[in-house]
Amino acid sequence: MTAGVVLQAAPIGPLADRLLREELGAVRLWDQPPGWLAAQGASVRLLATSVRQGCDAAMLAALPNLRAVSSWGVGYDTLDVAAAHARGIQVANTPDVLDDCVADLAWGLLIATARRIPAADRHVSAGEWTTLGSFPLATRVSGKRLGILGLGRIGQAIARRGEGFAMEVRYHGRRPKDVPYRFEPSLPALAAWCDMLVVACGGGPETHHLVSAEVLAALGPRGILVNIGRGSVVDQQALVAALEGGVIGGAGLDVLQGEPGAPAALRERDEVVITPHIGSATIETREAMERLVVDNLLAFLRDGRVLTPVQA
Ligand code: NAP
Repeated sequence: MTAGVVLQAAPIGPLADRLLREELGAVRLWDQPPGWLAAQGASVRLLATSVRQGCDAAMLAALPNLRAVSSWGVGYDTLDVAAAHARGIQVANTPDVLDDCVADLAWGLLIATARRIPAADRHVSAGEWTTLGSFPLATRVSGKRLGILGLGRIGQAIARRGEGFAMEVRYHGRRPKDVPYRFEPSLPALAAWCDMLVVACGGGPETHHLVSAEVLAALGPRGILVNIGRGSVVDQQALVAALEGGVIGGAGLDVLQGEPGAPAALRERDEVVITPHIGSATIETREAMERLVVDNLLAFLRDGRVLTPVQA
C-alpha cells in the first residue's frame, strides 16, 4: 500500500517527530500555510496525532480519504472514534507500554496522600522540625482495603501492586472480569467498603462524574481518593466540598477538570497532593509510546492493520 500523504497534526515528542519525518515523510500541519488542510486534505491517507491534540469530527471531515489514525496516549476521549470507525478508518492508541508507570504514579500518590509526604517535606523545609514528633500522625496504607474504579490494563497493574501491600482489592466497572478480585456492581457500595478508592477508567460521557457527592460520602472521613484516570470522572465541585467538610480524608490527583492548572480550593489543601498529569511521563515510557505511534502506521502500511487498535 502506498502511504499517500502522512499528516502529523501536532508535535508529539522528539523521537516520534523525527521518525515520522524520516520513515514516513510526514507533513507537519503546524508548519503549513493557512488553508493547507482545505487544499490538500484529500491527499492525506494517514494521520499521526495525540490525545492532547485529538482528532475531532471537523478534522475527519477535512480528510475524506483518511485510512488510519495513530494517536499518542491511551485515552481517546479527544478522538471521534465512532465517526472514524463509521468510515472504516482504523484508529490506534498507545496502550500497554505505559501501564507500569501510570500504576507506579497511582501508588506514589496514594502513599504520598495517606502518609502526607509533601506536607511533611514542607514542614521540614520551613524549618519547623524542631522537636521529634512535631508532625501529625497520618494514615496507614499496608493491609487496607483498595477499591479500583476501572480494572483495565492500568487498573490491574495498580491491583497487582496492592497485593504487595497486603491489601484486599475489589473493583467496579461495566462488567465482572476473570480476575482474582471481587467485582462490586455498585460504585457507592465499593466506596463504602474500601479505605482507598483509585480511579483508573477513561473519560468521556459514560464516566462523567461517576465519582459523585454520594460516592465521596460513602468513602468516608478517613477515606482517600486517587485519580489517575481523567478529571471528568470526578465531580470536582463535590470533591472540594467533601474536602472542606471533612467528608473524605484526602485526595491524590494526577488529572483534574479544567487542566492544565489546579484551583486554589484544591492546591492549597495539605491533604491534597496534585501532580501535573505525569502518569506516563518517564523517559522510558514516553520513548515506547512515541515509537508505537510510528509502528502503528508502519504496520498499517505493511499489513493493512494497526498494531494496537482502539477497542471502542
Ligand atoms: P482500559 O484497559 O480500556 O481500561 C479502562 C477501564 O475502565 C476498563 O476496565 C473499563 O471497565 C472501565 N470503564 C469504562 N467505562 C466505564 C464505566 N462507564 N463505568 C465503570 N468503568 C468503566 O484502559 P487503560 O489502558 O487501563 O487506561 C485507562 C485510562 O487511564 C485511560 O483511558 C486514560 O484516561 C487514563 N490514563 C491516564 C494517564 C495519566 O497520565 N494519568 C496515562 C494513561 C492513561 P470494563 O472493562 O468493565 O468496561
